[in-house]
Amino acid sequence: MKLEIDQDRLLAELETLATFSDAEPPAVTRVVFTPTDQKARAWLIARCEGAGLKVRQDPIGNIFARWNGADPEAPVVGTGSHIDAIPNAGKYDGVVGVLGGLAAIRALRRAGFQPRNSVELLVFATEEPTRFGVGCLGSRLLSGSLLPDAASQLRDSHGESVDEVRKKAGLSGKLEDVKLSSGYYKAFVELHIEQGPLLERAQTSLGIVMRIAAPASLRISIEGAGGHAGGVLMPDRKDALCAAAELILAIENAARSTGAVDTVATVGVCEVFPGAVNSIPSRVHLTVDLRDTDLARRDKLMQTINRTVQSLSTKRQVSICQELLNADAPADCAPEVRAALSDSCREHGFQFLEMISRAYHDSLFISRIAPAGMLFIPCRNGYSHRPDEFASPEDIARGTLILAESLARLSA
Ligand SMILES: [Zn+2]
Repeated sequence: MKLEIDQDRLLAELETLATFSDAEPPAVTRVVFTPTDQKARAWLIARCEGAGLKVRQDPIGNIFARWNGADPEAPVVGTGSHIDAIPNAGKYDGVVGVLGGLAAIRALRRAGFQPRNSVELLVFATEEPTRFGVGCLGSRLLSGSLLPDAASQLRDSHGESVDEVRKKAGLSGKLEDVKLSSGYYKAFVELHIEQGPLLERAQTSLGIVMRIAAPASLRISIEGAGGHAGGVLMPDRKDALCAAAELILAIENAARSTGAVDTVATVGVCEVFPGAVNSIPSRVHLTVDLRDTDLARRDKLMQTINRTVQSLSTKRQVSICQELLNADAPADCAPEVRAALSDSCREHGFQFLEMISRAYHDSLFISRIAPAGMLFIPCRNGYSHRPDEFASPEDIARGTLILAESLARLSA
């Protein structure tokens, strides 16, 4: 079988998809179920149908585009990623795995390959946490990692619930019906940009993921006492921002002191009320993002943060509320998927790196119901989630070729 990726068409489609954006180019903003995202989804569905695939959407908006295999009853070989994008993002995150998946299927069809198992492109809905505060909503529901009731109660910043938003987007049916039966997949492979600098540093075009790190996130609210910046003397203060500052540094210190490079902790949001120059901060909202490849170590870090919260609250006489948004386990990529990827690389004489995914992806959740794996390609300087995100045409085409070859191996 001679597999050829239509690189020009793939790149042209990447550029077209980037025009569905609420930001000025080169930035891409495509928040799930906004009118812009809806247009992008319709455009993508038309591309899938044009490639001869049968398209369906589930009640949360995951899009499935199927190429029927010789044995349509056999478990499916899946590939895919997401097309939603955080505000002011780039055009490659997720999109490479979706349009690359489509290009891989087209190449297999052109080459005359006939799969035994059906091959299906999956476009995950609401991968980014931008709208509903929780990432990977689509794959969490597909894998049963999030209960439908809990999902439907999530709200966006306008107070609209998941149910209201998805109905407005024309999606009907119950969230209970999103979960896939165990045994639905024979295997699942996601192609994605690395979102880190390691492949580029190693001057290697392909990365085979061994393990996906365990993410957790918390929302912390600190309530102190406000007052006049001149009138309230220092001994009488309950400054919420000073307590937050101490907590943020304690979190950094706790993450550094595990001694493992794989432990990372980030406070990415710090909202201060009332936010006036002459007013003592009365309230602060923080978000904490923790990740580790080792679940026990990640959980120990969470306990350390918890103890710090208790002691700070007493010491500074402020009340601190913590809300756990998610605490997910890490995942090992399936040996058979890794083998399909590495055999495909060897077949084409491409070097690859075995690596850990420190960002999390829909594959983390799909791995709970299917043998799953991921293939990374480099992105310039490791930049992602910013407008200057870039992956080279050669790397995109090479990743897509290895994806196509692997899909063939898994579905033959
Ligand atoms: Zn992504």
